[in-house]
Amino acid sequence: MKEFDVAIIGGGINGCGIARDAAGRGLSVLLIEQGDLASGTSSYSSKMIHGGIRYLEHYDFRLVRESLHERELLLKNAPHLVRPMRFVIPHVASMRPAWMMKIGIRLYDFLAGRSVLPKSRVLDLADDPAGAPLRASGGAGFEYSDCVADDARLVIANAIDAQERGADIRTKTRLVSARRVGQRWELVLAEGVKRETLHARALVNAAGPWAGSVIETIVKGAAPVNVRLVKGSHIVYPRLYTHDRAYVLQNNDGRIIFAIPFGEKYTLIGTTDVEIAGDPGHATASAEEIQYLCRLAEHFFKTAVEPSRVVWTFAGVRPLIDDGKGSASSATREYKIVADGSYGEAPLLSLIGGKLTAYRAMSEDVVNKLGHWLAMRAAWTANEPLPGGDLGARGFDGLLADLARDHAYLPAATARRIAHAYGRRVMNMLGDAKKIEDLGVRLAGDLHARELAYLREHEWAKTADDVLFRRTKLGVGASQIEIDAVKTALAA
Ligand SMILES: Cc1cc2nc3c(=O)[nH]c(=O)nc-3n(C[C@H](O)[C@H](O)[C@H](O)COP(=O)(O)OP(=O)(O)OC[C@H]3O[C@@H](n4cnc5c(N)ncnc54)[C@H](O)[C@@H]3O)c2cc1C
Repeated sequence: MKEFDVAIIGGGINGCGIARDAAGRGLSVLLIEQGDLASGTSSYSSKMIHGGIRYLEHYDFRLVRESLHERELLLKNAPHLVRPMRFVIPHVASMRPAWMMKIGIRLYDFLAGRSVLPKSRVLDLADDPAGAPLRASGGAGFEYSDCVADDARLVIANAIDAQERGADIRTKTRLVSARRVGQRWELVLAEGVKRETLHARALVNAAGPWAGSVIETIVKGAAPVNVRLVKGSHIVYPRLYTHDRAYVLQNNDGRIIFAIPFGEKYTLIGTTDVEIAGDPGHATASAEEIQYLCRLAEHFFKTAVEPSRVVWTFAGVRPLIDDGKGSASSATREYKIVADGSYGEAPLLSLIGGKLTAYRAMSEDVVNKLGHWLAMRAAWTANEPLPGGDLGARGFDGLLADLARDHAYLPAATARRIAHAYGRRVMNMLGDAKKIEDLGVRLAGDLHARELAYLREHEWAKTADDVLFRRTKLGVGASQIEIDAVKTALAA
């Protein structure tokens, strides 16, 4: 029977980050994901790689500083996936006074240390183009730097690297039972009707919002972990404005929502915060949440924002540490590693809470803790590019220039999309193509048969959703004919 050093439950950002880190330290790693990689919370985030300016309100300075440090590392190691973005906060009466807001953005700059991103500034929204799309003309605005990322592709990049360093990545495979047998975990995996039993010396529960239910129903005999489930919904709307900055908008009820450029054609608006119970896999944006987000956006922007024009919605479920206090939006974004198992027993580590932004540091922390049981090499991920992220001194623009030279037949928007998606590895995906026809039949948007084949072969893509909503976002606004074309191509 196969035996691994460590088995990881969950192929979200944390499971894949842990798999990458552990495999790179010489451990034999198994990752088990019941659906597609990133099919849980990790493709339904607001896609910000950020310190979290609003956590300054809660005096969470350590969390903010650590997240800002991770932001810098991600910018360096995955420059194709993580992009700088300027965020504008229009000042409204329900906020702290302007002088205090100014101190807040300066503090954010300070906590970022020697960031490569530009510093914050105060805007006069009567003059600045950021004021133009807003209903309230004029007033102060506060602009600061953060980043946005393709969350699902960040997960895939970690999984690819983990696999290349020897990890066994199983998608569409569910862990159905785990029990301690001697000093090992005996694990039963289900892939469709197929069952397989494997052993691991350590088990990591990175099941995100399922972390509590995995312990209750699958892992026999482990102490329970308390997870608080909070749903956050987003809407994707035809672009509300033409410039390339994002907004932080505060409602009269004190809640904050973000409006962020999404692809070339859309604005992403979110989120809500709704406590839920039950299976997090069934979370969707309710009609009330869509209505709420539209109303709030319309309150700030001159454009009418109507539920009937929303092109896509999605909802993610935050697995927050249940500290039994506060509202969902004020609950901490810290994380906790809960260890189970007494001396001589095979360990179980459960990772609860946290942020997409901090996944690398959290993964490192989990693997460091495994060091109590397993011999391994030192931590290594802080300065190692993710697959495709080795863009060198010429950076992303250099990659675009290489694409324009070697694949001049590509439309500029396509070159930009695939350069963001694959980084330097876009050259592997395009292979020896010399003209657009060499990419095969066009299936959906600018997705051609060659890219689909690459996604199947190198990135575990199996269904149309895997391709259209996680590895690309070409499903947003796609026609049924295009979706069917991808399904037919995958069935061939
Ligand atoms: C609405 C929202 C917005 C957010 N926005 C941001 C943001 O802008 N920036 C930021 O830094 N963070 C953000 N976050 C937080 C961030 O998205 C999460 O911290 C992160 O995605 C959690 O990843 P994870 O790997 O722990 O969980 P998940 O991505 O949910 O992965 C867990 C995986 O476990 C799998 N699984 C469960 N049970 C089993 C089983 N029995 N067998 C096999 N597999 C199993 C699931 O299928 C799932 O894929 C946001 C979260 C939400 C909900």
